[in-house]
Amino acid sequence: MFEFLGKLKDRLSKTRDQVFGKISRLLKAKSKIDEELLEEIEEILITGDIGVDTTFTIMENIRQRVKKERYENPEELNFLLRDEIDKFIISEESNDFEIKSNAPLHVIFVIGVNGSGKTTSIGKLAAIYKSKGKKVMLAACDTFRAAACEQLEVWAERAGVAITRLADQTDPSAVIFEAMQRARNGNYDVLLIDTAGRLHTKTNLMLELGKMEKVIKRFIPEAPHETLLVIDATTGQNGLSQARHFTKTAKLSGLILTKLDGTAKGGIVIGITQELQIPVKYIGVGEQIEDLRPFSSKEFVEALFD
Ligand code: GDP
Ligand code: MG
Repeated sequence: MFEFLGKLKDRLSKTRDQVFGKISRLLKAKSKIDEELLEEIEEILITGDIGVDTTFTIMENIRQRVKKERYENPEELNFLLRDEIDKFIISEESNDFEIKSNAPLHVIFVIGVNGSGKTTSIGKLAAIYKSKGKKVMLAACDTFRAAACEQLEVWAERAGVAITRLADQTDPSAVIFEAMQRARNGNYDVLLIDTAGRLHTKTNLMLELGKMEKVIKRFIPEAPHETLLVIDATTGQNGLSQARHFTKTAKLSGLILTKLDGTAKGGIVIGITQELQIPVKYIGVGEQIEDLRPFSSKEFVEALFD
């Protein structure tokens, strides 16, 4: 746990240095809290990809608290900011990859645009469930790109789990059908479904996702138990607008924010949960199999400050 916080700090270093470190340095240089200082903080947050609405809301809360609670020392703003950001993020604390439903087969549907990190995140999740003693199967439904299915196969091997892969260009719903059947007959515990994310055919993509869900429900009416939307944090506010399209088709249960390592745009996490009204469940902080973590806003905020 502590070890991970150290690592998280390390992985979030760009966002910390370029956004929150900048604020800390600014606060150290000032002798009093005034409107000019508050506006400077605002500017750093907005240029740091926190989002205009999010920044305004957080700063408004801070202005009120400064007045009411009579803060005078600029460095106290660090504490206030931390507190308000933590309050702003919707997260599911204590999510340690436990499966809440008691359905015999837990179905996780993973969606998101191409390149966001779906396949990689599925591979990482598979390894985690496997290490918890679960019998895991992957379904290769991104049949449009041959390389995509191969990539999932590599991850299945790496994680030591089963995979259902049919010929390239097969209707993704047919792959789901086959995977659901195999998973049920083979007494699998978890089925992770990888999907395509072609943006240029938005309507088709959404129709396709809807059709896939229908097939899943034919086997288990209350499935999918989780629908996770994967968002590439390096795309910042653009990723957020892409995400809005997905909220219109699927009933999302959580977000996976990937590539938080190596970007200064990690602040996207702060506003996204309010914008979409969906909690962040997992964060990706690297390309290795162990680089997926349950998200905790406390841990995240702690890693961003000091
Ligand atoms: P998909 O098209 O949504 O399935 O995306 P992929 O899983 O193929 O990922 C696209 C690229 O992003 C790959 O090169 C991954 O290695 C990389 N990637 C995914 N997650 C992370 C992450 O958390 N950190 C970093 N640095 N790279 C990641
Ligand atoms: Mg993929």
